[in-house]
Amino acid sequence: MAEITRIRTHAIRLPLRRPFVTAVRSVTALDAVIVCVGDADGRTGWGEAAVSWRVTGESAASVDAVTAGPLSESLRGLPADDPSVWGPALAAAVVHNTAAKAAVDAALWDIAAQTAGLPVHRLLDAESTSTVHTDITVSAAEEDAVLRAAAEHVADGFDVVKVKLGRDADRDDATLRALRRSAPAHIRIRVDANQGWSADEAIRLIRGWEDDDLGVELVEQPTAAADIAALARVTHATATPILADEALWGLRDLHEIARMGAADLVNVKLAKCGGISPARELIAPAQAAGMRVLVGSMLESVVGVTAAAHLAATLPGRVHDLDAGLWQRSAPVHGGARYERDRVELGDAAGFGILALREDLS
Ligand SMILES: [Mg+2]
Repeated sequence: MAEITRIRTHAIRLPLRRPFVTAVRSVTALDAVIVCVGDADGRTGWGEAAVSWRVTGESAASVDAVTAGPLSESLRGLPADDPSVWGPALAAAVVHNTAAKAAVDAALWDIAAQTAGLPVHRLLDAESTSTVHTDITVSAAEEDAVLRAAAEHVADGFDVVKVKLGRDADRDDATLRALRRSAPAHIRIRVDANQGWSADEAIRLIRGWEDDDLGVELVEQPTAAADIAALARVTHATATPILADEALWGLRDLHEIARMGAADLVNVKLAKCGGISPARELIAPAQAAGMRVLVGSMLESVVGVTAAAHLAATLPGRVHDLDAGLWQRSAPVHGGARYERDRVELGDAAGFGILALREDLS
């Protein structure tokens, strides 16, 4: 047993290949915090805290403060290889601050798996596979820009395209129809409205797509996060699978969504629920309630995506939502998950296989 000895943060800014635009924000660079946890035997574990005032409500400064304060105080001296000890301590150390907690949780799973000599996904589930499939996101934009971006991704080998809509229902309808007309028939189209529609708008659009047999694979978070009743109304009034994202942060949300039959699927993100350990506590009850689970991420670098992909590897046979690491011009670390077209390859290194922060960032 090696004790947790230190937790460090590195705030980084990485330019994006193209602007990331949703119904709630537009950014040209990724701001994130990389978290390193060390144990007494010299191992280092890696995690990432996604920071966005509009999405997670956390900042580089808040992650730094909560990590140096209550998280370090609660965790230092505990056995780094025992999630049953540090998991509850991390959860109880501070309320909210889920992105910061997710980063520390990931780093500790990294150390636990290095100690066991296994990739993290194998420590989580001996049956897991080391390849995870992902969709690719197309930013909210004018119709011609959406079609152009989608065509580039299709040419690059992606089969599942997730288009960000939710800014104006009528324009969204036209964009989706144009995308379906222009994309090859085998391309699966997902829609993410990022809370942008009323329930009535969502029902009108989705029923129209169903009537015209456009084959939309799923619609993500059509309505406001806090209004579970609206989400339930859309789910009950349409046949297209509805995916809850912003509506689901923790177990209380999940129970409410399940009780109301408000969604067909849930998008589990480490930054919302606080890490791999709390994410696993969401997966079993979601599945027991008949909902399928997809693993997604915030706009994050490959460090955050690596942790999410190791969890996703325990849920095989589905296309997850883990393209975020493709958006930066370059990765902040050496090692970690590797993209091969629409696949995230986890490799067979112990832990996450992350070796070091890029020299110019450390
Ligand atoms: Mg979403």
